[in-house]
Amino acid sequence: MNNNHFSQFQPIAAIATTPQGAKILQPLAQSIKATLHLPKSVNWTEEALQYHESTRKHLTSIWDKHKAFIFCLATGAVIRLIAPLLQDKSRDPAVVVIDAEGRFVISLCSGHQGGADKLAQLIAQQIGATPVITGACSSLGLPAIDILGVPYGWRKGEGNWTGVMGTIARGESVEVIQEVGSTLWQEHLPDRHPFYFGFAESSESITPKARIWISPTKRRFNPDSNLPKVQWHPRVLWVGIGCERGTSKKLIEKAITTICQRYHLATEAIAGIATIDLKADERGILELCNSWNLPLRTFSAEVLKQIEVPTPSKVVDREVGTPSVAEAAAIWAIKNSEFALGSSFKSAGLSGTRTKFESQPLGNPPNGLPRKIQNCYLTDALLVPKQIFKLANEPGAVTVAVAQSAREYTGRIGKLYLVGIGPGNIEQITPAAKTAITEADAVIGYSLYTDLIKSLFRPGQIIESLAITQERQRAQRAIELAQWGLTVAVVSSGDCGIYGMAGLVLEELQTNNWDGKTPQVQVFPGISAIQAAAARVGAPLMHDFCAISLSDLLTPWNVIKKRLEAAAIGDFVTAIYNPRSQKRTQQIIIAREIFLQHRHPHTPVAIVHSAYRQEEQIDITTLEKMLDSSIDMLTTVIIGNSNTRNYANWMITPRGYLGFDRQT
Ligand code: SAH
Repeated sequence: MNNNHFSQFQPIAAIATTPQGAKILQPLAQSIKATLHLPKSVNWTEEALQYHESTRKHLTSIWDKHKAFIFCLATGAVIRLIAPLLQDKSRDPAVVVIDAEGRFVISLCSGHQGGADKLAQLIAQQIGATPVITGACSSLGLPAIDILGVPYGWRKGEGNWTGVMGTIARGESVEVIQEVGSTLWQEHLPDRHPFYFGFAESSESITPKARIWISPTKRRFNPDSNLPKVQWHPRVLWVGIGCERGTSKKLIEKAITTICQRYHLATEAIAGIATIDLKADERGILELCNSWNLPLRTFSAEVLKQIEVPTPSKVVDREVGTPSVAEAAAIWAIKNSEFALGSSFKSAGLSGTRTKFESQPLGNPPNGLPRKIQNCYLTDALLVPKQIFKLANEPGAVTVAVAQSAREYTGRIGKLYLVGIGPGNIEQITPAAKTAITEADAVIGYSLYTDLIKSLFRPGQIIESLAITQERQRAQRAIELAQWGLTVAVVSSGDCGIYGMAGLVLEELQTNNWDGKTPQVQVFPGISAIQAAAARVGAPLMHDFCAISLSDLLTPWNVIKKRLEAAAIGDFVTAIYNPRSQKRTQQIIIAREIFLQHRHPHTPVAIVHSAYRQEEQIDITTLEKMLDSSIDMLTTVIIGNSNTRNYANWMITPRGYLGFDRQT
């Protein structure tokens, strides 16, 4: 099975030194694609890598080759084994320890940057254990500051990270000055948090003990300052480049770093490079993008020439057919990065200047220009007008301009997890669905459901609850976040593909010309109300069955009626979803009449209200009397077939139609 929740940790080594430990790790290793390492002394016949040397020696030989280690060993032994191998927290692998009974998963080392906290939580969901996370931020329900920007592709700048995290752990106030980038993280903090947004000087009552900058500016901090400071750089800078054929990477690099220094911009804040399509094969540019790990965006002269720029050039126009390359490409790259999201991106969640363009459908790169291009507002975003660079001993010449986009480039391919969370009890969610929810950067669902799965959330996760009626908005919002690069879990009760969000999200994606791959979509099945209700009353679905929703919100009533008749005539066991709402009261009455035309009045009927929830209520009755029971929107009604019987308050549909089918 494709269990890609663990891909960020690969390669993973799972190490045990006893048969009991191997037994705990083996199924886990198999499911998450880790390699099981065992000493030769362990008598083991299943798949594993068995080593002859001491565990210490073996670990030393594989340490640098793995991103994560899972031990089933005493924590003391693990500490002694890894101690000589640890270097620093920006490089050490994640280390997780599971106890010999598989009840606890301890995040032992590299909790934040190595991801051990997240890994421990994911494994815990997978094996039904309790994660043990001891980091201070986690216990306060706060996102860890040294990985705060990771979901949004921000890059870390210099600073005193230990100092700032110590301040947070002590519960002292921390000033946050966020100039660019998504503010989503601010909106999803717990009620009590230490952050003060904006300069605290204006308020007399607060004396911040640390400061976090979120900015494209590179700040040099005095290492002796009493106030620990750190900086994150959201990737909002698009560097436009024009150059002569054959310009070297060295010259281009020099030009960009010089501009960044001159304007105090962090190279970490660079989102990508933009230029004219004629330069798509320019070696120097390609080499630079490759070594700096930056995307290259190229645009045609037709597009570029229509963009108003501060410094157009007739010479350039004559040569390549547009009066500007560097400035126009930088400006257009910004516009282009906004295309990916459509127009309805919640501006509150993404700070910065909004561009005033109309948006185009997702997945459709702009080949024509919107009519508004002539009075382009985007020139406001040009941070650095074009500058020309040459170097004495380097061939060529390069012009560089920098524009700042309202929204950061995440550099990530988004994922959409469409997750069914079962009927309403945490025990009824599959481990795969739990892992998906815990892994996601953002979870979107109806508030009742997000409440039900609270225990699966990690500190710092974006949880967006929307009203039950706003299903389409929920789907659109999820797509927008995924298009931007986040991993988004959309949760539905029961199964997400049965009257749930999966269809809505896929429909919306189709409307947006989705290519079927980006964002990636994975569907996680859940126990649907029909199965939950059936399980609570016995075995009513033992023969052919169907489900019919009585909601005429999206389906015309005459279609629903036709299906009821067909199900009744076909002698299907029939589960009725959405049987009655406050406004819609007649449909269930008519449904019963239809069934009475084809089935005996004594046909058993189960009325199951809130299966597996605290308010669960169950009636086993008959077609004749079913309306005496209370039926509402939290009820599933199961009508038996002509053979279904009620025995000692259990509902049983025989396996076949041969009377008492004693073969099964
Ligand atoms: N995706 C869901 C169905 C959503 S439609 C699923 O697969 O279960 C909503 C309807 O589902 C409700 O009107 C009710 O008929 C049924 N339902 C959902 N949860 C239920 C529960 N816990 N007990 C009984 N019926 C339930």
